[in-house]
Amino acid sequence: MESRKRNGEASGGSVPTQLFVDGEWREAATGQRFSVDDPASGEIVAAVADAGAVDARAAVDAAHRAWSAWRAMPATERADLLWRWHRLIESHAEDLARLLTREQGKPFAEARAEIAYANGFVRWFAEEARRAYGEVIPAPRPDRRVLVLREPVGVVAAITPWNFPAAMVTRKIAPALAAGCAVVLKPSELTPLSALALVDLAREAGFPPGVVNLVTTSDAPAVGAVLTADPRVRKLSFTGSTAVGKRLMADCAGTVKKLSLELGGNAPFIVFDDADLDRALDGLVANKFRNAGQACIAANRVLVQHGVHDRFVERLAARVAALRVGRGDEDGVAIGPLITERARAKVEALVDGAVAAGARVVVGGRALHELGPRWYAPTVLTGVGPEMRLACDEAFGPVVPVIRFATEAEAVALANDTPYGLAAYFYTQDATRIFRLASALEAGIVGANEAVVSNQMAPFGGYKESGIGREGSRHGLAEYTELKYLCLGGLG
Ligand code: NAP
Repeated sequence: MESRKRNGEASGGSVPTQLFVDGEWREAATGQRFSVDDPASGEIVAAVADAGAVDARAAVDAAHRAWSAWRAMPATERADLLWRWHRLIESHAEDLARLLTREQGKPFAEARAEIAYANGFVRWFAEEARRAYGEVIPAPRPDRRVLVLREPVGVVAAITPWNFPAAMVTRKIAPALAAGCAVVLKPSELTPLSALALVDLAREAGFPPGVVNLVTTSDAPAVGAVLTADPRVRKLSFTGSTAVGKRLMADCAGTVKKLSLELGGNAPFIVFDDADLDRALDGLVANKFRNAGQACIAANRVLVQHGVHDRFVERLAARVAALRVGRGDEDGVAIGPLITERARAKVEALVDGAVAAGARVVVGGRALHELGPRWYAPTVLTGVGPEMRLACDEAFGPVVPVIRFATEAEAVALANDTPYGLAAYFYTQDATRIFRLASALEAGIVGANEAVVSNQMAPFGGYKESGIGREGSRHGLAEYTELKYLCLGGLG
């Protein structure tokens, strides 16, 4: 992010657009580039180096070479570098937020919040780096000592999605670096610029060459094949769809890599008759419409008990109708575009399918072609059946499907009737029900009377097909370490 210009920099800024390998910016071996556009307008904002298998291998070579010195560096020194990176991100936060809005489309206020959230992981793991404690366990014999050491797993491949292009990068890289791992990062081809900017700041912070490497590509399978097959890559940390996660998991089986998988969700949001409706409405609007609904923990099915159903829907409809749709860089905008035309078409097909099957549109329910091909109106539907595709697939759009239910048992059964288990939310003022639901819901993240739940301190991750492992918290650091049992004998 310094002012020095490089070949092919993104328009309007000083973000590098090459690959970062072994501490240097370089072109892809083929010299090819691919375009990154602004989802609001379709305007091309940058042309970025297009890595292939050769470049991915070079990045793994560099990471592997760098790893032995990096793991030997005292944790306090690694922590100091992370702190330096944190401060640089902080001082460039406004530029990073603008870049994020430009390549991803989310409202500027949300982009700012994402940069702060992303940087929170760098700070958290700078602090945690010093606390990767081992254990001393009482030994079975007097002449022995039993020690458990925590060691870095090795070279880590990190593959990140487009919906949180900054936070998903730091949530993986910061703990990996804190633990003493070297990293090869592959961001989504749709949003590589935030990753490039963050890695440039890591370079400025002074991480040794090869410790952080970045390969941007329009051919994810080609780069993914190298990262999953190379035995020197000891761990894959992936955030994205369940379908791609399953495929990468299978590809990693050949070399038995450690895996962290943050995959799709189908979060239920349950409103009981005794809920504080104001609180539930605030929670739902904040949770569901952030990033135009393109979040893995966004409520995907809203289950409302019949006693408050009509009142809740009426008030929700008024809130949703008032949400302002527009470019992320306009003031007061709450909803931006969807990431691609394909994403808009998927949302449209899910809503149209639900309506054809008997659901009723209360607000919205249509594409906003007058704004461009990637826009969809904030929408509320009632009469949605749990069997409809809209209630089974991750919509990833600004759509609230409301399902009516009668009893607590029915709500729990509906909530758990999905292969996913990432997040679940419920609103009730009955304390006994809070504890019953907290234990009955099959999800890695549960919000009771709260629906904005992500932070650095808490473990983030899913049950069932929503993934493996946790990010954030002290558990997020442990994911990048191996336990070594050291038995000391002959001490009697
Ligand atoms: P995606 O299509 O699975 O892509 C995720 C990443 O994987 C991108 O970098 C993508 O690259 C890459 N990729 C795709 N195919 C690949 C392959 N064969 N080999 C290697 N890499 C490959 O998911 P997405 O549409 O970007 O993201 C949305 C999904 O992510 C949703 O399902 C959402 O729920 C999930 N998500 C989960 C969490 C969580 O923490 N659980 C957080 C955020 C998002 P390209 O984009 O360049 O193709």
